[in-house]
Amino acid sequence: MAHAIEDERRHEEAQAHIRATIMNEFCEVMRKTGLPPMVVMRLAAQAVGSVYRETADAHSGPGACACGWCPRQESDVDMLCSALLAACGRRSSRNLHLMPIAGTA
Ligand SMILES: [Zn+2]
Repeated sequence: MAHAIEDERRHEEAQAHIRATIMNEFCEVMRKTGLPPMVVMRLAAQAVGSVYRETADAHSGPGACACGWCPRQESDVDMLCSALLAACGRRSSRNLHLMPIAGTA
């Protein structure tokens, strides 16, 4: 039981950390480049896909990481798409720590 609570706490900390980091970089890139929000969003989504590819490659073939993760591209990508869809919906934001978007006027 303590394990489950600890896991959930670590999960929430990681989620808040990654979200804050991406929000900061998102605002910074828009401010510096003047690119529109959806262009920058797409770059962020592409970055996640590319990090997946690189991590999956590091877990396949000779010299693969020994942590035990076996990439399964089809189900992994399904899971990433579901997570994206769920997080884009207004109702799924109950676990996100909504923060004011910096730089809006
Ligand atoms: Zn690994």
